[in-house]
Amino acid sequence: MSLFSQMNALCPNCGATQNIAAVGSVNADRRPDLRAAILDDSFQLMTCAECGHGFRLEPLFNYLEVAKGQWIAAMPGREMPEYIEVEDRAMGVFDVSYGEKAPAAARAIGQDLKPRVTFGWPAVKEKLLIDGMGLDDITVEMMKMDLLRRLPEVPLSPGTELRLIGGGDGGLEFAWIETVSETPGQQFTVARELYDEIAGNAAGWAKIHKRLTDGPFVDMQKLYMGEGRAA
Ligand SMILES: [Zn+2]
Repeated sequence: MSLFSQMNALCPNCGATQNIAAVGSVNADRRPDLRAAILDDSFQLMTCAECGHGFRLEPLFNYLEVAKGQWIAAMPGREMPEYIEVEDRAMGVFDVSYGEKAPAAARAIGQDLKPRVTFGWPAVKEKLLIDGMGLDDITVEMMKMDLLRRLPEVPLSPGTELRLIGGGDGGLEFAWIETVSETPGQQFTVARELYDEIAGNAAGWAKIHKRLTDGPFVDMQKLYMGEGRAA
């Protein structure tokens, strides 16, 4: 079941109190419209009744789509530096809901679910997009790491991240995006062959693969943040 709760929020433009429906969980098997809204950037967009200003709530919900094996704890972008604690908390929730501490029926569903943690709207959108394109999210993150070495200009910095935004067999489209404001910057297209090359070189990427999957936050940014988990 998809859950929303009524809450009060202040309009960031005029300060008027708005009663809004904030999402707590998305069940996309039953509500494919919510998946579509995440993909077209309209999910949790609010319009102030007083001044007409549009603003978006931060992501803070669990996303479930059993048919696609997706379980995502979608978190606010500003929490990324604490990703290890967030990963542990998310896995606690997953274990009780669909993992080893769940009832047998839920555990059976959980076997086919990939638990993930994302920070910010561009990240959760990207996970849905990657799945929709039939790609593997771990390989896409390895591809980004490879691109960092190849690109002449790398605007990677805290708050700016590289996200897959579309494409197909002709090439994969990436953009540098400011996480919190979702402002897209420079975009470029990469040949699909690079993805296939990395997917076919499991041995060469084994070490990075292990780091990326040491928790449900499967994002190359974790390799640049702090000490990571103890080996
Ligand atoms: Zn307002």
